[in-house]
Amino acid sequence: MGSFFKIRNLATGGRNRSLRNFLPTGLGPLFSRFSLVGCEPSATAENLTVDASLEFVNRFTDAMEIGHLETMLKTATRLLSELLSEQSLLLQARLEFETIIICSSFHDSAEQTRKLPGSGANETSDKPERIRIINLDQTEASQTMAETTFYTLARHRYQDGELSLYSDKRLSVNQDRLLDFCLQFLGKRLLEAKDWQRLETDSRRDALTGLHNRRYFDELIDKEQERAQRYRHSTALAMMDLDHFKQINDRYGHPAGDQVLRATGRILTETLRKCDTACRYGGEEFALILPETSLAEAQLICERVRKRLENTTITTSDNQKINITASFGVTDSQGNCSLDLIEAADRALYQAKKEGRNRIATYPPTAFQSAI
Ligand code: GH3
Ligand code: MG
Ligand code: MG
Repeated sequence: MGSFFKIRNLATGGRNRSLRNFLPTGLGPLFSRFSLVGCEPSATAENLTVDASLEFVNRFTDAMEIGHLETMLKTATRLLSELLSEQSLLLQARLEFETIIICSSFHDSAEQTRKLPGSGANETSDKPERIRIINLDQTEASQTMAETTFYTLARHRYQDGELSLYSDKRLSVNQDRLLDFCLQFLGKRLLEAKDWQRLETDSRRDALTGLHNRRYFDELIDKEQERAQRYRHSTALAMMDLDHFKQINDRYGHPAGDQVLRATGRILTETLRKCDTACRYGGEEFALILPETSLAEAQLICERVRKRLENTTITTSDNQKINITASFGVTDSQGNCSLDLIEAADRALYQAKKEGRNRIATYPPTAFQSAI
């Protein structure tokens, strides 16, 4: 396969290529210990084989996009099989309700997979109900793996289960740490994928940021207004809009813009109080519902968010550093009767933009001005 050749070529030809720039953060020390991975031993090419490891990690982490769980397991098996010179591999994922086994070569025996070394799958007490075997190679004519002896290459236990990698051949030197890393990374990604799927199927959540969505906001703001009126309490509402966000997309690309929106969602969740609700109102606009809060208190809360955003540098997955600011329009349920909360907050937001952005304005206007 083309990509496998790429690794080999590095070992023999591409001497000066350094791939360290692509290394995901924190992995540096791990790779200083590699010598030979997926390529022919070569006494003179130590650095190059480190590079081959880096290239593989780079490809592996890039390819492990959050998606359908089974697709992620298949992709991982395919890549690992390439790395190990296309030898027969089994990736076993023991999950909460089932075990999924992805085979790089044809394999048809569920019985034998129960006997995989050290998997615990043969212990009746925690035997999962269902074993699903997925063959990447459907050509039954090729030698089947049914009677093969398997060796454990790597194993990783994570919050949701256990990932094990088996092969019909033992490892050559130093491959184990790379495989350990790959399984750890896969485990992390599987957990993220699960969270994501949960959010996506939640009709009250925004799938990009994980915040509540517009639909939820509409329901909640009505309830909050009614409650505030009945008990004569003050509920505050802030509309927050990222400044010049179109320029962020234009300059860094739409995917980077998406990452900024996600980071903004995280900052809101971390900065607001437990009782507050942050919603993605639409595009790069967010609505913050602050119950039992006066206008003055709401200004202070928004000022905290404003400063935090201003002082945060967001690093995208392709290592671009992005700074953003936001403008806020704040109102509360006591100040005015003629406008509803959303309209009042919108007016204030418009004012904040007009006055120069990266600031807070209120409706009705007050003396408070956030310094920039
Ligand atoms: P202002 O300071 O006046 O708010 O300027 P702005 O550029 O932020 O406002 P404008 O309304 O002109 O542009 C908003 C941009 O937000 C345009 C749109 O492409 C972008 N946007 C909306 N939703 C998304 C999204 O989900 N992802 C990304 N990456 N961009 C989005
Ligand atoms: Mg904007
Ligand atoms: Mg906008």
